[in-house]
Amino acid sequence: MKLLEERIREQGIVIGSDILKVDMFLNHQIDASLLFEMGKEFKRLFEKERITKILTVEVSGIAIASMAALHFGVPVLYAKKTPSSNSSSDVYASDVYSFTKNKTYNIRVSKEFLSSDDSVLIIDDFLANGNAVLGLLNIVHAAGAKTAGVGIAIEKGFMPGREIVKKQGVHLESLAIVEKMGPEGIIFGKND
Ligand code: 5GP
Repeated sequence: MKLLEERIREQGIVIGSDILKVDMFLNHQIDASLLFEMGKEFKRLFEKERITKILTVEVSGIAIASMAALHFGVPVLYAKKTPSSNSSSDVYASDVYSFTKNKTYNIRVSKEFLSSDDSVLIIDDFLANGNAVLGLLNIVHAAGAKTAGVGIAIEKGFMPGREIVKKQGVHLESLAIVEKMGPEGIIFGKND
């Protein structure tokens, strides 16, 4: 998606060899008009799929998922990372290791919001090693729901996430794929 690639080039900050900071428009300050267009693009990419719910994980996925939800006309459900009063029998849960935080989270979704009638579009801000998406896929499977697809805002194509997610046999689309990044700039690739 040209608009997103341009914005990453203009405002993205590369940290070390593998972290991209996009706090100017996505992960801290939010450019709602840009995210609205991203939501519209997800709608175009997954137009043929039956989608009853969008699933993401707090915090950064929520804004993008909500914009997509406006275009699909379905609710957004986000997995929580912080412990809640729900007992373990009331939730679908999965462990997710975050390499940016070097920490494992137990992500949880209340059973009342996901059922075997649902066809779910998973959305997240970044795809790196694929752990967050795998955790969300586990939750969809545990609910007996169908996965309609996985939509990612920014994929780091030099990391193994795509291969890992594709092995699950799901329809994966990323709005921007960073193939290479460093002091010489950012090179984008294409979905296969
Ligand atoms: P994965 O689970 O695929 O390894 O990593 C995806 C998750 O880690 C995303 O939910 C995202 O929040 C975070 N993440 C991974 N790489 C980056 C990055 O380069 N920049 C930012 N801002 N977040 C990232």
